[in-house]
Amino acid sequence: MSDLISIIVPCYNEEESLRLFHEAVKKTEASMPECRFEILLINDGSKDRTLEIMRELAQEDESVSYFSFSRNFGKEAAMYAGFCHVRGDYAAVMDADLQDPPDLLPEMYRILQSGEYDSVAARRVSRAGEPPVRSWFARRFYSLINRISDADIVDGARDFRLMKREMVEAILAMGESNRFSNGIFGWIGFRTYWMPYENVERVAGQSKWNFWGLCSYALDGIVNFSQVPLDIASWFGILMTIVSFLAILFIVVRKILFGDPVAGWASTACIITFIGGIQLLCLGIIGKYLATVYSEVKKRPHYIIGESNRKDVKRIG
Ligand code: UDP
Ligand code: MG
Repeated sequence: MSDLISIIVPCYNEEESLRLFHEAVKKTEASMPECRFEILLINDGSKDRTLEIMRELAQEDESVSYFSFSRNFGKEAAMYAGFCHVRGDYAAVMDADLQDPPDLLPEMYRILQSGEYDSVAARRVSRAGEPPVRSWFARRFYSLINRISDADIVDGARDFRLMKREMVEAILAMGESNRFSNGIFGWIGFRTYWMPYENVERVAGQSKWNFWGLCSYALDGIVNFSQVPLDIASWFGILMTIVSFLAILFIVVRKILFGDPVAGWASTACIITFIGGIQLLCLGIIGKYLATVYSEVKKRPHYIIGESNRKDVKRIG
């Protein structure tokens, strides 16, 4: 009995890399006689020829299934849709741009076979080829989020990992709309082996991330896996109350003892703007959590599939 490995591939405008990716994965499959692969291509509302290439690949290779979203739902949604359709004993998430080298799969599989681990995750040890500013912010973000969250979120961890089916079920049970995979993987636990590898640049096309996109993704990560910002807002509030109470006491005593010699307009204006600023900041923090709660309670689907070659497709999930 050979093991079936389901490979989930989120694709957004990957017309240039998709075929190269397919070839590379097929080559890896050939080098693993004890396994069969099932390739799940998820078209995340691409605006180029990605879908046509998927159809062709599915025609040529029966181990390829494709799922085409009705619009762009984001990589997280694409991964979720992939997990919903996994039939294998193992599942792996891989980028279509070959930044997640398929050559690592045999080694990952071997480690899982030893039975000591439930998943093997790739971890970049270098951030070569990345703008230094981005690396710097990324490092700060990971050290911050690990301090303020109970999920174990690893720096350099990519979504690329091979995992047992049990883990897939746990991931699907995390039904939140605001998905932050690195946090979800950390939160569900299981025994994970971290496999270091050197960063690889994408084979073709461009990264879909810009700096602000990454910042907002980082913010989502914090809001979804930590409540510390809310605590900070409350502590700020308490501190400011104490400070203003002391200030009032000081002003009243001074007024009684010495009268009111100066108008003090400048200091008053400073205090008002300072406190106003902090209040707005805290409101903003609360608002961000409220917005997250709002999108969760609406319980909108994570994705909508418009087209697929699988009969048992779960169109809305
Ligand atoms: N991707 C996606 N939906 C999006 C953006 C990206 O499915 O809205 C896919 C993309 O096709 C690729 C993977 O997610 O397979 C990683 O994207 P990218 O290479 O742009 O990110 P990076 O490797 O630079 O972090
Ligand atoms: Mg990439």
